[in-house]
Amino acid sequence: MIYQRSSALFSEAQHYIPGGVNSPVRAFKSVGGVPIFMKSAKGAYMTDEDDRTYVDYINSWGPAILGHTHPVVLQAIQQQAEKGFSYGTPTELETEIAKFIVENVPNIDQIRMVSSGTEACMSAVRLARGFTGRDKIIKFEGCYHGHSDSFLIKAGSGAATFGNPNSPGVTQGTAKDTLLARYNDLEQVEDLFRHNEGEIAALIIEPVAGNMGCVLPEQDFLRKLRELCDQHGTLLIFDEVMTGFRLAFGGAQEAYNVKADLVTYGKVIGGGLPVGAFAGRNEIMDHLAPKGAVYQAGTLSGNPLAMRAGLETLKLIKNDTGFYERINRTTETLDFEIGKILNSKDIAHRINRKGSMMSIFFHIASVSNFDEAQQANHALFNNFFHHMLKNGIYLPPSGYETYFISDALRDEEIDRTLDAVRKFEYSNK
Ligand SMILES: *Cc1c(COP(=O)(O)O)cnc(C)c1O
Repeated sequence: MIYQRSSALFSEAQHYIPGGVNSPVRAFKSVGGVPIFMKSAKGAYMTDEDDRTYVDYINSWGPAILGHTHPVVLQAIQQQAEKGFSYGTPTELETEIAKFIVENVPNIDQIRMVSSGTEACMSAVRLARGFTGRDKIIKFEGCYHGHSDSFLIKAGSGAATFGNPNSPGVTQGTAKDTLLARYNDLEQVEDLFRHNEGEIAALIIEPVAGNMGCVLPEQDFLRKLRELCDQHGTLLIFDEVMTGFRLAFGGAQEAYNVKADLVTYGKVIGGGLPVGAFAGRNEIMDHLAPKGAVYQAGTLSGNPLAMRAGLETLKLIKNDTGFYERINRTTETLDFEIGKILNSKDIAHRINRKGSMMSIFFHIASVSNFDEAQQANHALFNNFFHHMLKNGIYLPPSGYETYFISDALRDEEIDRTLDAVRKFEYSNK
């Protein structure tokens, strides 16, 4: 049994932690089998409790964009820790990171720090509602904006009507204010605006979706959403929790040259510590407490350890002029080479990729929305996942997730990955 200690630890964990994990995707329910318990990570690799090492393609679901435990970030955290972990007062460091982000990201004047992407998106929607005086929001099927009630909504029966709760505990009252549209379906969005004229506070979108696998916006989709929002007095919220500082330093706003009214961040912004943030122009952000009336707060918001980790990570990225070109090229190489190998094995597939985000869908020609993501062959992905895992490659444990490529991945790790793909045996029987 190769995952002996992980199995034992998982059994033990299930007694004390619901389902044995602190976040559901970690439990391997989608791919089956026992989740692997890690004990350390450095650079491109994670090491599990059975002393097996893996080339890491989740990188903590995005934050470890430099690879794990970067020495400069580590040192900065250690130095800050000597000075105290948290004060509950303002610090100079918070202004330093806010200024650095505002000066280097297009189209934002002010930024408010929180402790998770969930908080960032929840707060951005509250602010949009407070600013516009409207209740409803539009979101897209398959997009994830954290687990706050307004977002745990699935499409109702009938086309593009209002949503239904997607989890027990979310009320019908909440669900009625969230309208659902299909990703890349502009007509549905137009319909929603038409039938809810003057009622929609915000439209929130992952500008490149990463939570139904990697799904790209079609040509001009984001620009047209911008136009619709302008026509209807609705705020456009880019959820850049995944794409922020990853597609470009200025995230999808920069990569697609489309301006959002509010932008949410998470993942990379904390460099591996728990951070989220939301940002926008003065006229909107001024509505937040204590200056404005829209309430939002957090005991550990702007935590000094987290701010140091985030700031050092962002500076390392910003000061490295070849950074994005390098991780994008690594990802492109993986896309082309994996594609070639799968083709040589006659395994039909589609690889979606943008920047350093990618995912493989099996037995489908293209994926541009959640319905199509569901039509992919997930049983085959699960086989592929376990094959790669046995060969020391840690992919996301679900066919509905994105692979996050880090800057620590070099030729050696790419070769190791491709060798594992070459060994994948699959018969159509
Ligand atoms: C991860 C994620 C979130 C939620 O962030 P948490 O820190 O897990 O709360 C929100 N939106 C997107 C696009 C994400 O990928």
